Amino acid sequence: MKNSKRVLVTGGAGFIGSHLCKRLLDENHEVMCLDNFFTGSKDNILDLMDNKRFELIRHDITHQYFIEVDWIFNFACPASPIHYQYNPIKTLKTNILGTLNMLGLAKRVKARILHASTSEVYGDPQEHPQTESYWGHVNPIGLRSCYDEGKRAAETLMMDYKREQKVDSKIIRIFNTFGPKMRADDGRVVSNFIVQALQGDDITIYGDGSQTRSFCYIDDLIEVIMRMIAKEDFSGPVNTGNPDEFTILELAQKVIEMTNSKSKLSFKELPSDDPTQRKPDISLAKEKLGWEPKVNLEEGLTRTIEYFEKWLSN
Ligand code: NAD
Ligand code: UDP
Repeated sequence: MKNSKRVLVTGGAGFIGSHLCKRLLDENHEVMCLDNFFTGSKDNILDLMDNKRFELIRHDITHQYFIEVDWIFNFACPASPIHYQYNPIKTLKTNILGTLNMLGLAKRVKARILHASTSEVYGDPQEHPQTESYWGHVNPIGLRSCYDEGKRAAETLMMDYKREQKVDSKIIRIFNTFGPKMRADDGRVVSNFIVQALQGDDITIYGDGSQTRSFCYIDDLIEVIMRMIAKEDFSGPVNTGNPDEFTILELAQKVIEMTNSKSKLSFKELPSDDPTQRKPDISLAKEKLGWEPKVNLEEGLTRTIEYFEKWLSN
């Protein structure tokens, strides 16, 4: 079919990956979804299984893999602190060996490769909001380092393969994204708060809740990913996120209100190296990709609450 690409999505059974696979199929591409199911699940892609243009591959990207494709989306990597800290050495291997393997594949088959980097490359930022030119403030030896430094090394690999090997590589830096298909036990703040509120459990605030995050709804992220892969002569890195900034306490109050929950706040110890503030400057995405998010926090929360209500009632 005209303009139809053969696409590999690593981490395709995860939260973002599964939404991306669906969008790619909706646009008539052929999708190879590769996952080792560490945090991903077949449930996320169940609705895609019957599609003739969809294939599921159980594989771990820390080992080489060969397939003829036009595009590679490298999304394999646990994203929640509890999951990426479960086996930190494996997280580093996934980011470094895994990205190396995918870049090797991209070079061999001349595929375009887009890598899912993160706002964590800015660490606990001393510049606010964060622009792509900021180099970050990252602890190289802490509990979050396996992820932060792994992602930073992956960016280095992406750039060196571009410069040295002429690989058509692209980097997006994703800021906190949420939506349906997050795991109930994912551990990230939006899913935790919603599930706790719906079950009437205490809402766990780490620290005093004054730290900030900027939350992007999944549909907005998928839109910018699609624009980035299609864009010629722009490799990034580019920030992708929603610049509306909220404290964690504000998020908790919003979720309690929207779910009519009787849950109480319960303050817990702040994890080490937890960034105090985070907000993307998205001028570059606006300029190069004509993109800005459309779904505000409340609208995104409404859709996500609906999803978890259904999930919990099953
Ligand atoms: P997720 O945990 O839901 O998905 C990750 C997927 O990768 C899972 O399906 C998992 O099983 C798979 N995976 C992990 N290690 C693998 C390996 N070695 N080989 C093959 N598959 C492997 O997380 P997500 O939120 O969907 O994140 C997807 C990507 O986006 C990650 O690279 C993450 O770092 C990045 N990202 C996400 C966010 C966010 O807010 N969701 C923010 C910044 C960056
Ligand atoms: N957080 C919280 N309670 C939770 C989960 C997370 O207060 O149950 C806080 C966490 O300490 C951090 C923020 O919410 O300050 C966002 O955490 P998340 O794990 O979602 O993402 P990241 O820290 O990677 O931005």
